[in-house]
Amino acid sequence: MNPIELSFEFFPPKTQEGLDKLRATRVQLLPLKPKFVSVTFGAGGSTQQGTLDTVLEMGKDSVDAAPHLSCIGSSKESLRAILNEYRSHGIRHIVALRGDLPSGMGEVGELRYASELVSFIRAEFGDWFRIEVAAYPEYHPQSRSPRHDLENFARKVKAGANSAITQYFFNADAYFRFVDDAHKLGVDVPIVPGIMPITNFSQLMRFSEMCGAEVPRWVAKRLESFGDDRDAIRAFGLDVVTDLCRRLVDAKVPGLHFYTLNGAAATKAICERLGI
Ligand code: FAD
Repeated sequence: MNPIELSFEFFPPKTQEGLDKLRATRVQLLPLKPKFVSVTFGAGGSTQQGTLDTVLEMGKDSVDAAPHLSCIGSSKESLRAILNEYRSHGIRHIVALRGDLPSGMGEVGELRYASELVSFIRAEFGDWFRIEVAAYPEYHPQSRSPRHDLENFARKVKAGANSAITQYFFNADAYFRFVDDAHKLGVDVPIVPGIMPITNFSQLMRFSEMCGAEVPRWVAKRLESFGDDRDAIRAFGLDVVTDLCRRLVDAKVPGLHFYTLNGAAATKAICERLGI
């Protein structure tokens, strides 16, 4: 048995090449026996079919495969139709999100926040789905204040979420503090740290800027200094993220959720170093 429960996140590929890569990744990562895998969903439904197809393909390997679902820009009717389709395929596990409106798409939709989506799912589908929600140890970039963000997180859990996955972070103390604060607000579901392997400096900085995750200055400086030396970036990234995971595992976190970006090598290397 693994010393810690793992889950892996993928995105639906858009091209045949992307599909081939994901299939190869799956073959390499599934022997690590993840508790589940999840597949992202483009806000506004842009990847609706791709998300379902990818989940169904993953599920063929008898792994629990959970589609993400975001509510922003969608009507209750369209969300109900998607959830009914998931249910008709026997899918019982989802990651419920607000999502972000793509620029140029004006309408917010009928459900404004993930907590409203969770309530909607519970009201319409009872306990059919196990529901994961997102958590932000360094706070959501649009939140009014840390306190407000924590309260909103607690609201989402009280609406019926079974468990949470965090945005990625490189500062373990932010996560530990967030979990303590959430417990004080009565949150008693597992809060699984999201782990982003480091393989590409400019991509990491771009993602982090968008999602509000802090890349520590010393890490950014070192990565930047490697320039185009991808091997050096990967080697240093592997050290940094493995150290983070080791600290989390030692603290007995409820699992590790890897943002694989559909690649196997970095996630596999971290798990190997952790003895998984
Ligand atoms: P919410 O929990 O609704 O929070 C959004 C903001 O609103 C926060 O600032 C919160 O404090 C505030 N808020 C919440 N409730 C209220 C309220 N009642 N009143 C006032 N303010 C409130 N995006 C995708 O498009 N597709 C994906 O597949 C996807 N997967 C993700 C998986 C994980 C594990 C994570 C961490 C993120 C994922 N995202 C995905 C990104 C996510 O959609 C964005 O971070 C989005 O901006 C917020 O979604 P949420 O579900 O956390 O929103």
